[in-house]
Amino acid sequence: MSCIFCKIVEGSIPSIAVYQNECCYAFADLNPKAPVHVLIVPRKHIGSLGEVEVGDTALLGQLLWAAAEIARSKQLENGYRVVINSGPDGGQTVDHLHLHLLGGRSMTWPPG
Ligand code: 5GP
Ligand code: ZN
Repeated sequence: MSCIFCKIVEGSIPSIAVYQNECCYAFADLNPKAPVHVLIVPRKHIGSLGEVEVGDTALLGQLLWAAAEIARSKQLENGYRVVINSGPDGGQTVDHLHLHLLGGRSMTWPPG
């Protein structure tokens, strides 16, 4: 299995854990784009948001719930951003579905 996020989930590539439960794992981004930059991934391999199936809807809710819980734990009361890049035009570089939680600074809009 060559997916780097699957290897992070199973522990064969080290990461800094931020949050975990039975269906998802969250860890610090290696190349942070904000003071808080956490990646939230399903333990199950799903290539991208473009590949989710109807059976994944509860899991998608769990991922958003995790983002909100982590934001609360990081005291991001002033706001934050949750991003999913999907596919080449979306800027996705790792083909395992993940949410970016970005916070600790003011974000700009539109994204690049
Ligand atoms: P994408 O561009 O696919 O939306 O986001 C991939 C993210 O994964 C990037 O922000 C990148 O810094 C992060 N990343 C890539 N490889 C690793 C790794 O081995 N460990 C960690 N912690 N983050 C990684
Ligand atoms: Zn994977």
